[in-house]
Amino acid sequence: MKSQQIRQTFLDFYKSKQHEIVASAPMVIKNDPTLMFVNAGMNPFKEYFLGINESKFSRISDSQKCLRVSGKHNDLEEVGVDTYHHTMFEMLGNWSFGDYFKKEAIAWAWELLTEVYKIDKDCLYVTIFEGDTSENLERDTEAYDYWKEFIAEDRILNGNKKDNFWEMGDQGPCGPCSEIHVDIRTAEEKAAVDGASLVNADHPQVVEIWNLVFMQFNRMADGSLKNLPAQHVDTGMGFERLAMVMQGVQSNYDTDVFTPLIREIETITGHAYGKTEQEDIAIRVIADHVRAVAFSIADGQLPSNNGAGYVIRRILRRAIRYGFTYLNKKEPFIYMLVNTLSKQMGDAFPELKSQKNLILNVIKEEEQSFLRALDQGLVLLDSMITAAKSNSQNIIDGNKAFELYDTYGFPIDLTALILREKGMELDEAGFEKAMAAQKQRSRAASETTTTDWTELRSDDTQEFIGYDKLEADVRISRYRKV
Ligand code: ATP
Ligand code: MG
Ligand code: MG
Ligand code: MG
Repeated sequence: MKSQQIRQTFLDFYKSKQHEIVASAPMVIKNDPTLMFVNAGMNPFKEYFLGINESKFSRISDSQKCLRVSGKHNDLEEVGVDTYHHTMFEMLGNWSFGDYFKKEAIAWAWELLTEVYKIDKDCLYVTIFEGDTSENLERDTEAYDYWKEFIAEDRILNGNKKDNFWEMGDQGPCGPCSEIHVDIRTAEEKAAVDGASLVNADHPQVVEIWNLVFMQFNRMADGSLKNLPAQHVDTGMGFERLAMVMQGVQSNYDTDVFTPLIREIETITGHAYGKTEQEDIAIRVIADHVRAVAFSIADGQLPSNNGAGYVIRRILRRAIRYGFTYLNKKEPFIYMLVNTLSKQMGDAFPELKSQKNLILNVIKEEEQSFLRALDQGLVLLDSMITAAKSNSQNIIDGNKAFELYDTYGFPIDLTALILREKGMELDEAGFEKAMAAQKQRSRAASETTTTDWTELRSDDTQEFIGYDKLEADVRISRYRKV
């Protein structure tokens, strides 16, 4: 089944269960000081759950554009390295606002997966909330009982509060959730496991695809839980992960959501996907990031130096430097992918078609200016190397490397790589120190909480820089001399 059809089938299914089908809300949030980007399908319906507004429809279904690069949901570090976390992805969802509850939510999810999509039942596992004695929360035996009508009991796993109890924030609606995981291992891989239990929700090839949240409590200001007067359902299924399962592949990037982009990257760069791990990561990063950036621009968020615009700029720069470093692309090229993306996704998201030229031009300009900065950085680094050598030193001061990183956005992994090539060393400890001091400064200037709603102040870019740093750490250790 093609991805387009997979999406449509989901919506048609819930339409047949009397859901109103709505379009995705913009991914960029303009009027909420607590959240820059939609990071879950339920964000646009927050007011209904909080009881601030009443929904015209008691059942809704959609495919929502989400971005997870900041705050509580920051997957950036995973993206490109693993094959199922994206920055931008679609979350398929169905909602009940005070209408149906666990029984229907579970029965329909099962019906859709096994009877409509015809996913092999023997590949499915589900999790339920195991309870929490400290809060006097009971195990979700209700969900358990509904599940066991459909699935063998040894495939119903207990999950803890972290994974299986969802809270909107410090206060407000919350409740247990039930996740569906799919074992995507091939028969040979399973056979090779040699008797070991297949029941392992943490296995990298047993991937979570769907989360069903049952809102039944209200977290009060004093921290206590009260039963909600009306119970709600909020579900979210990763569209690209579903496509992976449906298309019988082992990576989201091998689905038709991504393959046209990947083929195009191969053509433009001359680097084939599937040859080396490092190039593959770069190709995945670029295929992923161009979507995040294109959808943001289509939603009206241009790259800039602060707030949401800065987040977008950093995502694009991350893609550019992966191309620069690992695919040897010194000229703008990411903008060229917009044509393919718009062809691929433009029917489901017409904004990609109508804004194509804008998206393309903005990305091209960003690429040009960042590549120029990289060039300048290279010149500066060269002069640092010459100066160090003339003093018979073979190490570059951490402060200087940080200046290069901070002022020119010159990636530290690139500095490390170039130094290594020239037989020089990077003063990593010094760089770390300068970075920590910088982080300290920006942390003092802003504050980030970790609920779903208070995520990132519009002037707060600290989270994001933090992850870049993490990434830099990984690269540095990769390039460390042995
Ligand atoms: P994971 O544990 O894999 O990070 P999650 O528990 O954080 O997922 P939820 O918040 O439950 O995810 O979101 C609902 C669904 O959205 C998930 O079951 C998954 O299919 C999908 N999803 C979540 N994060 C991503 C992502 N970064 N990229 C693609 N799909 C995602
Ligand atoms: Mg996650
Ligand atoms: Mg999870
Ligand atoms: Mg989950």
